[in-house]
Amino acid sequence: MADALLGPAEIRELATRLGVAPTKKLGQNFLHDPNTIRRIVAAAGLTPGDVALEVGPGLGSLTLGLAGAVRHVHAVEIDPRLAAALPETVTAPHLTVHHADALHVKGADFDPAPTMLVANLPYNVAVPVVLHLLAELPTLRGGLVMVQKEVADRLVAGPGSKVYGVPSVKLAWYAEARAAGKVPPAVFWPVPNVDSGLVAFARHDPPPGVDRRDVFAVVDAAFAQRRKTLRAALAGWAGGAAQAEKVLVAAGISPQARGEALTVGQFAAIAGAAKLSPS
Ligand code: SAM
Repeated sequence: MADALLGPAEIRELATRLGVAPTKKLGQNFLHDPNTIRRIVAAAGLTPGDVALEVGPGLGSLTLGLAGAVRHVHAVEIDPRLAAALPETVTAPHLTVHHADALHVKGADFDPAPTMLVANLPYNVAVPVVLHLLAELPTLRGGLVMVQKEVADRLVAGPGSKVYGVPSVKLAWYAEARAAGKVPPAVFWPVPNVDSGLVAFARHDPPPGVDRRDVFAVVDAAFAQRRKTLRAALAGWAGGAAQAEKVLVAAGISPQARGEALTVGQFAAIAGAAKLSPS
């Protein structure tokens, strides 16, 4: 790797020198364990030709690991102090720092185009960031993100699981996701009061013939009242329970089923049937 990875002493020294007091609001828990960095980089499945996109490089712990593994790194950091200081820590020439909110970046902001998302995400916006990037950046072929363990469990859950919900289905629209391990609080400074989990994902083709927004509207409606049958939960969305039942039957799904039992393909079938059977 081009530069040495950062341990606890280097992280404290950097924070002191930059006058950075980590804020909860921006989810600033910095990795200070080189073994965890190596583990993340190895689990991400990067190839030397990849262009990595890192959201929230912070003090640069993971950025250093990524810079040694790929041909280019884009680092998107919302905190101006951290964005400005990053090139001093990561001196590799193939790094582009973007001082931006990851929730608002667009494909045109990145050259070369990112192929892999690898990030220790700010936990309060982790799911919207992943979904936004997968929607905006079709060149992303996959990635590995670290999120709060509970959120990781939701992201990889399948139909029938207690924690299967909106994030699980929406991520499944874009990609196949799997759990890639747990990370203990001790490897961060400051130490968070939750465990973290790694989620690896590989993009796949979404169900054909339907618009993503139409499908996501069905998903949102179904899980807004997850204990209700789909006939009842989708009544508002369809324009009445009778219309919801008609659409569900046309999609080959029992009106008595619940959203938590449906695959993303079945949600897509409902959205497709609604187009053919307008209220
Ligand atoms: N990658 C670093 C590490 O592992 O040590 C820091 C990870 S820390 C959990 C999250 C980082 O995301 C912080 O640097 C924070 O300032 C940044 N951040 C928070 N919200 C953001 C947003 N909306 N867009 C971009 N960066 C954000």
